[in-house]
Amino acid sequence: MSNREGIAEEVPVQQQDQQPGKENEMQPKPIYDDGKPGLGRLKKKVAIVTGGDSGIGRAVAVQFAKEGAEVVIVYLDEHEDAQETAKAMADYGKKPLLMSMDVSVEDNCAAIIRKTIRHFGAPDIIVNNAAVQYEQHSVEDISAEQLEHTFRTNIFSQFYLVKFALPHLKPGSTIINTASVTAFKGNPVLIDYSSTKGAIIGYTCSLSQSLVKKGIRVNAVAPGPVWTPLIPSSFDEKKVAEFGKNTPMERPAQPVEIAPCYVFLASEESRFITGQTLHPNGGTIVNS
Ligand code: NAD
Repeated sequence: MSNREGIAEEVPVQQQDQQPGKENEMQPKPIYDDGKPGLGRLKKKVAIVTGGDSGIGRAVAVQFAKEGAEVVIVYLDEHEDAQETAKAMADYGKKPLLMSMDVSVEDNCAAIIRKTIRHFGAPDIIVNNAAVQYEQHSVEDISAEQLEHTFRTNIFSQFYLVKFALPHLKPGSTIINTASVTAFKGNPVLIDYSSTKGAIIGYTCSLSQSLVKKGIRVNAVAPGPVWTPLIPSSFDEKKVAEFGKNTPMERPAQPVEIAPCYVFLASEESRFITGQTLHPNGGTIVNS
């Protein structure tokens, strides 16, 4: 673990027994805001952030609010975490629309777009960030149910949400997909998860080419290890304690260290960038 200054800290023994994990049960609490003022870079923009109640998504939602955006937070059922994120955004004068919805179901993604338009107007920024991961030590242990659930949640949802958003996206809109360092480095105990993350990279490249003439940009962020509820809810206590120590920086990131990539990709500052992947991963070299 690391504190705000990036100094490694010991992690108390902990494990959560189901996904999605809960940020309010984590020790120490992930850092999602550095208190620095925003620059108005997303003024008048409407953003949808899936998995926005906690972890990386929470930090992104708070930074987007700080930069002036209206934010829709989509999450599965972690209501307390979602309320906490809304409270943090209120500090920046923003009230998010909270939507508890299963993004692995196509009709729900249509509803997310419909409700967003009714509440805030058409979206300008889509952050496809919701995901699950289940550790298995052999491909033989990955059940058909797990495989389908992981693919539906992590990548099918990204197709669904974009498909229903597209008729409403104006030139200048941006789509940002959360991938992972595992897409490039693999992970022997997250074979299905890593495969969905590889698919997200191919999806990002292809979609960017298909939408470039419409003036819509599509990029990905591929984080390395980040201290979020995904970790104690998917790994055992020993792995949680060791988490992130194998990076060149020998620590995991805090969500606040990942969120600036999303602000950059969502804002005008990145207007010449599409089809690319940013790698906030503590120094791991990847081929991309
Ligand atoms: P997290 O547990 O805070 O976020 C996962 C989110 O996915 C939760 O908000 C949850 O509500 C949402 N979710 C799960 N299933 C859903 C469903 N069916 N419908 C709607 N929402 C659903 O953990 P996080 O680490 O912040 O994860 C965010 C993204 O970052 C994920 O795509 C994850 O793969 C990626 N990532 C995380 C790490 C890491 O080390 N934490 C590293 C690389 C990539």
